[in-house]
Amino acid sequence: MDTTILGLSILELSYIVASVTFILGLKMLSSPDKARKGNLIAGYGMGLAIAATILFKEEFSADKWLNYSLILAGLAIGTVIGMRMAIKVKMTAMPQMVSFFNGMGGACAGVISLVEFDHLRHGGEISAGMLIVILLGLIIGSVSFSGSMIAYGKLEGKIADKALPAGQIINIGLLIAIFGLAGYLAFSGHLSMPLMYALLVLSLLYGVLFVMPIGGADMPVVISLLNSFTGMAAAFGGFLYGNQAMLTGGILVGSAGTILTVLMCTAMNRSLTNVIIGSFGGGGAASTQSGEQGTIKEISVTDAAILLAYANKVSVVPGYGLAVAQAQHTVHNLEKILEDKGVDLTYAIHPVAGRMPGHMNVLLAEADVPYPKLLEMEDANEDMASTDVVLVIGANDVVNPAAENDPSSPIYGMPVVKVWNAKNIIVLKRSMGKGYAGIENELFFHPKNRMLFGDAKDSLEKLISELKNL
Ligand code: NAP
Repeated sequence: MDTTILGLSILELSYIVASVTFILGLKMLSSPDKARKGNLIAGYGMGLAIAATILFKEEFSADKWLNYSLILAGLAIGTVIGMRMAIKVKMTAMPQMVSFFNGMGGACAGVISLVEFDHLRHGGEISAGMLIVILLGLIIGSVSFSGSMIAYGKLEGKIADKALPAGQIINIGLLIAIFGLAGYLAFSGHLSMPLMYALLVLSLLYGVLFVMPIGGADMPVVISLLNSFTGMAAAFGGFLYGNQAMLTGGILVGSAGTILTVLMCTAMNRSLTNVIIGSFGGGGAASTQSGEQGTIKEISVTDAAILLAYANKVSVVPGYGLAVAQAQHTVHNLEKILEDKGVDLTYAIHPVAGRMPGHMNVLLAEADVPYPKLLEMEDANEDMASTDVVLVIGANDVVNPAAENDPSSPIYGMPVVKVWNAKNIIVLKRSMGKGYAGIENELFFHPKNRMLFGDAKDSLEKLISELKNL
């Protein structure tokens, strides 16, 4: 179809518009109050790019009814499954859903490479550059697919962490085989489909063996890394088809995934290598510290309610346990009641509280907690000395003083919320159970601290009913 506007075809214009929506959407995702809209805008952009590709990439022809039917059937099935999963997913299961969707992206990139390789064999124009792009798309897409599926299984609790003896050596051997085979396919001129399938199997196996030994709790970092792989693989697909929207989308996913991986590692004060081979939180050296640290003091619901009601300034530190208890709405109710009593309440948000980046922001936004009430960790720490009560809800590692004062601790050097600088601390959790890093927390034995044991939602509900009587 020869329709041009300002010298650009409708197809090119649609790709430009789609690319702009991806960038805008991504920008808006960085602020919780605009994230939902940003996601929708980028989604519409993707819809436009897909529609434009189907309608304008090639001359529309009724002969291709089978192709169109398959594309529409694929779109319909994907839309129904994706929507059902997204509607049903619990906030705590978000990382595994991201991993599953990411794996599907990797699988698509791998399949594209297989199909295009076959086209080349049957008389397509062959250039070394194109072959390399196809081979890299297959390798990276397949690693991302199988690795993401293992990450999904681990987070669902269906697959246990397992390291093969000499696993690192096997992995290095596999990498050598993968790149050796890819090099042969790229430069020998021998376009063998069986060798391409062998490359597929080796890459899938590498994805499995690469993710298998990594501690289950380190999965969010690995998922983000695999996400960047999928982005790269999709960008290769964009090159292959001369599809600018796919290229921009892939580059954005690839770079966002890489940046996120680096940010998470920095916030945990760990290197990527340590995440990949460190088995952090897996119950190894990290969990061997002794629990002989003094006595813990408990607080009754009534005393906790009185302390809160007569405070001028309260800081809530939410953590993974808040998400597990699904107590975001309840904490927002507590906030409203305390504010009615003249208490100034804010939330101290640690960058890696929870199990995925922005976990606490998303959780609290879901309960309509006003965004200005969320303070970044550095700002919250500045305010700590003038805070009357800190309410730590289901957080553990992100308030562990060992990060500051115990050089032997695996979390030493990780920035934390310095709750011990406040006048009083109340920790809401079910038991003396450890957090993600699998280590003791001396905060629980701190003279200023009192424990309110129980499920976070139950404890908050009890606090609310006490406060109503005060
Ligand atoms: P955490 O250290 O994992 O501790 C969570 C605490 O919540 C547990 O000690 C648990 O104690 C308590 N809990 C669980 N269910 C609860 C419930 N229903 N009610 C009340 N309490 C409950 O969590 P965190 O302080 O948020 O720290 C996050 C950790 O994850 C950090 O180590 C971080 O490095 C890591 N991480 C985060 C990300 C990310 O992107 N956010 C990514 C990778 C790793 P009980 O069992 O005693 O209740």
